[in-house]
Amino acid sequence: MPELPEVEALSAFLSERLTGRVIARVQPVAISALKTYDPPVTALEGRTVGRVTRRGKFLDIEAEGLHLVVHLARAGWLRWKDGLPAEPPRPSPRNPLALRLRLEGGAADGFDLTEAGSKKGLAVYVVRDPAEVPGVARLGPDPLDPAFTLADFAALLRDDRRRLKGVLRDQSALAGVGNAYSDEVLHAARMSPYKLAASLTEEEVARLYEALGGTLREAVERSHGLAAGELKAEKKLGLRVHGRTGEPCPVCGDTIREVSFADSSLQYCPTCQTGGKPLADRRLSRLLK
Ligand SMILES: [Zn+2]
Repeated sequence: MPELPEVEALSAFLSERLTGRVIARVQPVAISALKTYDPPVTALEGRTVGRVTRRGKFLDIEAEGLHLVVHLARAGWLRWKDGLPAEPPRPSPRNPLALRLRLEGGAADGFDLTEAGSKKGLAVYVVRDPAEVPGVARLGPDPLDPAFTLADFAALLRDDRRRLKGVLRDQSALAGVGNAYSDEVLHAARMSPYKLAASLTEEEVARLYEALGGTLREAVERSHGLAAGELKAEKKLGLRVHGRTGEPCPVCGDTIREVSFADSSLQYCPTCQTGGKPLADRRLSRLLK
């Protein structure tokens, strides 16, 4: 799933290509992806794109007072096309195309939103105000917002009785961090994903804040200037523990382990993060009882 750094890079990529251009057609192919009907998607046609921004993991394309807001979810992606075929896209169960946006002008360029797999989560909204999108309205502070200070972060953790892993990827606590970067941030901070947020000392809060900003800024820098098609591979390359079960930790050489957490799994390094002790898989131990 694309997270803050990838969506940030995508928004920069689109900003260069869309700003000042007129939208010619917006064609939803997978009707389930379109979550709003008023205003209709056709209301975007003929409008000039003003700004493209990121809100958490959402992309926001603004065109003369309307917003096309996109959440790529788990398997969604955006493909830029320099020459879109003239015939309209046809829906089919095997066609991963969810929506096509074509710009005015001779080059027939634009983008396709695609979604692989059977679990459909890609969501598109056409709204007058981004806050009309429930997922956007719920977003917590953005960790890369210069106004998000260490004091803000400390206040956010202070009363939270949940485990760090759960807090970091909760979009209403913090916008933009998901399963992959929460693993990376905790590894960089040398902290157990099971540690309770409210139990952190002042020094630990500062260390986690540094790791959060540092990890995300580094990933944004790596992704910057990359074409939309190259972002997924770059994300994978840059990850140190996430998705690397069984591989050596790049910091200490210990074997990276995996444990289930909520609806997915997390990866961590025992030496760097949990004093050398493997975390108990709570789901597995419950089964063994
Ligand atoms: Zn390690």
